[in-house]
Amino acid sequence: MVYFVGAGPGAADLITVRGRALLERADRIIYAGSLVNPALLDYARAGCDIYNSAVMTLAEVVEKIEEGHAAGMDIVRLHTGDPCLYGAIREQMDALRDKGIPYEICPGVSSFCGAAAALEAEYTLPGLTQSVIITRAEGRTAVPQREQLSALAGHGASMVLFLSAALTRQVREQLLAGGAYREDTPCAIVYKATWQEEKTVRGTLGRLPEMAEENGIDKTALILVGEFLEGEYELSRLYAPDFTTAFRKGTAP
Ligand code: SAH
Repeated sequence: MVYFVGAGPGAADLITVRGRALLERADRIIYAGSLVNPALLDYARAGCDIYNSAVMTLAEVVEKIEEGHAAGMDIVRLHTGDPCLYGAIREQMDALRDKGIPYEICPGVSSFCGAAAALEAEYTLPGLTQSVIITRAEGRTAVPQREQLSALAGHGASMVLFLSAALTRQVREQLLAGGAYREDTPCAIVYKATWQEEKTVRGTLGRLPEMAEENGIDKTALILVGEFLEGEYELSRLYAPDFTTAFRKGTAP
């Protein structure tokens, strides 16, 4: 069986219990070496075959899975964070489906959750925003025209940018062009969230490029933008004394 496993954002104990059990019994592990914490490989049993996909092509990864499957192995394909975001798992699953090789997915803690934890932030605050936009700046991978940052920036929602730490000038320019964020909109960069080297930098959108440059950050980082980082919010309705739910009867206002 093949398991696509989310490794979590970095800290080795932030993999799920299920993910760890799958690593412990795997016969072969193919891990995304550019981002997965190598400490996770300590969970592998002695004698497990280990491959680093950072130096492999899609065809080579699929070949190693196919070969292992034919030999009756349990195979873990280990991806950083949760594999559903920028994980390139769809192409692997489609290739396996074409070959009749069964697989399952074990989710993980995405780095955007690790970054919020590092900042002690909540993305969805009543009275401020109830939406999170997860996106990226356009680099070597194209972003569809209708999803250009300037278009997404018209909402003023909480925003998380993956894969964009080297593109901060472009990010600032396009987010400001959207109209809803300003130069003084709160902004943060979280480098290697939950790793030992974790670094958080807080500032404003207007200073985003300087925040990255002054701290030497150009990769393995998330950019977070929005009033959720600092703005005034309202208390939740859910825990308000006068709010009745299926579980709790509210008092008269
Ligand atoms: N599937 C992953 C994302 C993979 S794309 C997830 O759910 O987190 C790789 C990008 O994710 C990096 O360029 C960076 O923007 C972000 N990233 C991954 N791990 C990170 C971490 N620990 N801290 C900050 N950003 C991280």
